[in-house]
Amino acid sequence: MSRLVMKFGGTSVADLERIRNVAAHVKREVEAGSEVAVVVSAMAGKTNELIAWCKDAGSYFDNPEYDAVVASGELVTAGLLALVLKDVGLQARSWAGWQIPLITNDAHGSARIEKIDGRNLVDGFRRGEIAVVAGFQGLHASTNRVTTLGRGGSDTSAVALAAAIDAGRCDIYTDVDGVYTTDPRVVSKARRLDKVSFEEMLEMASLGAKVLQERSVEVALLHKVRLYVRSSFDDPAHPKPGTLICDEEEIVEQQIVTGIAFSRDEAQITLREVADKPGVAAAIFVPLADANINVDMIIQVVSDDTTTTDITFTVPAAEFERSMEILEARRQAIGYAKLNGAQDVVKISAIGIGMRSHSGVAARAFKALAEKGINIRAITTSEIKFSMLIDEPYTELAVRTLHTLYGLDAK
Ligand code: ASP
Ligand code: MG
Repeated sequence: MSRLVMKFGGTSVADLERIRNVAAHVKREVEAGSEVAVVVSAMAGKTNELIAWCKDAGSYFDNPEYDAVVASGELVTAGLLALVLKDVGLQARSWAGWQIPLITNDAHGSARIEKIDGRNLVDGFRRGEIAVVAGFQGLHASTNRVTTLGRGGSDTSAVALAAAIDAGRCDIYTDVDGVYTTDPRVVSKARRLDKVSFEEMLEMASLGAKVLQERSVEVALLHKVRLYVRSSFDDPAHPKPGTLICDEEEIVEQQIVTGIAFSRDEAQITLREVADKPGVAAAIFVPLADANINVDMIIQVVSDDTTTTDITFTVPAAEFERSMEILEARRQAIGYAKLNGAQDVVKISAIGIGMRSHSGVAARAFKALAEKGINIRAITTSEIKFSMLIDEPYTELAVRTLHTLYGLDAK
């Protein structure tokens, strides 16, 4: 018998009517002969509301009581869905993370899954029962405390559970019908992709695509769990195709560039006239690392006088002020002439495993953007992607230009 994990996000379970619609999707799969575990998010907006209450109550993000509060959203949805499933004549029961148990470390607010024992759920399948699992949560065993996995964490719950119970596929139902070549709100000719490789999806998720939590794709890659991103807003009796995220071997026709991602959550910092001598980069980046600031693009200009150089890098926009303060406080120790920052920047990335075997892919982009008069502030490349930092007002023009350049436009 085939086994399936179905995950439904917040907008898909926003109210009882939507939950009844979810039950219809589940019923279809059960009647087709699958053993089903359903993983649910909190109803749309619930988690934000719970977090706001925690903030008002004076609690911290890494406090176990924060997790006790925010994990409750998913419990409500799981119970309601189990009720509705029974109402349509199916056998079902709800599972809190600790009941499975889904064991995590003790990093409250962003816990990592350590172990899932799938046996209880499998016993339930043998009794003909659908498992309705509260996503986003787990248990830290030795302290006996509830943990949560970080925002968007139900995706990761679902994928890890699929690995634990050896499900043939993990269907991620959401409010869009798949993964697109780029954000359809920015490029009207964006296309839904039929298949994307794990590696490409990982880059897309980390570079700004919001469909899946990045960690869930890491887990899928690690355990080779095939993911299918699809819409819960389809007619449950006639579901439409979505996007399969799978091993690259399953993808026959490989494009050079699969997608264009962009992120506005970037800020640029430049240190001018830094002494060109050993230890300077460490003097800049070690304090930032110690402050848990994630530095991304780094560019050091090669100086011709070999006495000073310029160093440019990017940090998440939310960390901009903190980064500037750290560097200002170390002005003497680092020894730079000027510190400049820019927040109105965007990082645009092209992703595709075809880049491994084709040269000149990025060069074409540089030329195309130059023809539109778009200045590139910084560039980074890796095996299957390249990213460019440009001025924010040019975002749409740049994304559209690259989308057309690499043949991604819908016909
Ligand atoms: N409810 C949690 C959140 O909003 C987890 C999830 O939906 O994946 O972040
Ligand atoms: Mg989500």
